Amino acid sequence: MNKRDYYEVLGVSKSATDDEIKSAFRKLAKKYHPDISKEPDAEEKFKEAQEAYAVLSDPAKRKQYDQFGHAAFDNNGAGGGFGGFDFSGFDVDLDDILGNMFGGGFGFSGSRKKNSRSRGDDVLYHMNLTFEEAVFGCEKDVKIDTSISCPDCDGKGGHDEETCDVCHGSGTITSEQHTIFGSFLSKTTCSNCGGTGKTFKRRCSTCGGKGVIRKNRTITVKVPSGIDTGMRLRVSGKGEAGTNGGPAGDLYLEFQVATHPFFKRENDDIYLNVPITITDAVLGCKKDIRTLDSVVTLNIKGGTNTGDKQRIKGKGIKNASTGRTGDMYIIFEVVLPDKLSREQKNLFEKLSSTNLENSTFEKFTKFVNKK
Ligand SMILES: [Zn+2]
Ligand SMILES: [Zn+2]
Repeated sequence: MNKRDYYEVLGVSKSATDDEIKSAFRKLAKKYHPDISKEPDAEEKFKEAQEAYAVLSDPAKRKQYDQFGHAAFDNNGAGGGFGGFDFSGFDVDLDDILGNMFGGGFGFSGSRKKNSRSRGDDVLYHMNLTFEEAVFGCEKDVKIDTSISCPDCDGKGGHDEETCDVCHGSGTITSEQHTIFGSFLSKTTCSNCGGTGKTFKRRCSTCGGKGVIRKNRTITVKVPSGIDTGMRLRVSGKGEAGTNGGPAGDLYLEFQVATHPFFKRENDDIYLNVPITITDAVLGCKKDIRTLDSVVTLNIKGGTNTGDKQRIKGKGIKNASTGRTGDMYIIFEVVLPDKLSREQKNLFEKLSSTNLENSTFEKFTKFVNKK
């Protein structure tokens, strides 16, 4: 099937502005909308215009189309290279485009009603935690500033409720509308009661009739163990208040965890660098080290080198969200003495006169003396 050029479909030039494209589509949509049009091939024409509009109204898609034509969106065709483009799910908001043609309430699916019950917005707060707070979990107070449902009128906006005498409680007004497409019975939201069907004898003075007020609150949050930087915690229902009795949004806490001077963290594992003397490294020793929650005695075997690792199972972070407990890793670092006493120097001199070289040194000597 030969596809018509999208610009031709909308009847605009290649250099048309976004507004020209939108207006051209709106005209075509009016003409061919299947709910309205009497033209025999209206549905096909409408779809064609919708497809053209979906591409040309999106700057990225328009660019691809300008460069590659229909091939840019062809699932099978040569020159694709975009992995195909599915035309079944246009993200064209028809209500946005067509909704105001009929003064609203015409009955396009999903056209928005003002004053409807809606959920409040989510809010995001940042929270700093110490290393220990993040590892073990804690309770923290958070100061938040959001709207809440007005406590004086229970979010209704007024006192002494009565039935709206304009719409008689239905919340809508039905009237006959005459348009170029004919006459329609049109339902509009009652402006006297805002669609609720109720009015109040007295408006609530606390919220000025809005049903919500802004408030600084302090809430206590239980932070689970195992939190790391960047993780988010949802506190349900602590976001902005909903409107017209809708539920409140959620509060999200995003964490920033302070580093620890000794413990390093990798997910749920803990790393600790442990300094050992040259003799402890050579001869081996017992050494007390601190884990997250206790002190344990470590058996360090003779011949331990800088960088050698020892695992202490189950001594990492207990992660409340995964249920897993990490491990602890000890990384040894052989630290040379800063200053030597005369006696120590003598001992090292005596030691150096013995043969300390192993196979590593032999290999290296061979390499050096290679002819
Ligand atoms: Zn009313
Ligand atoms: Zn109130």
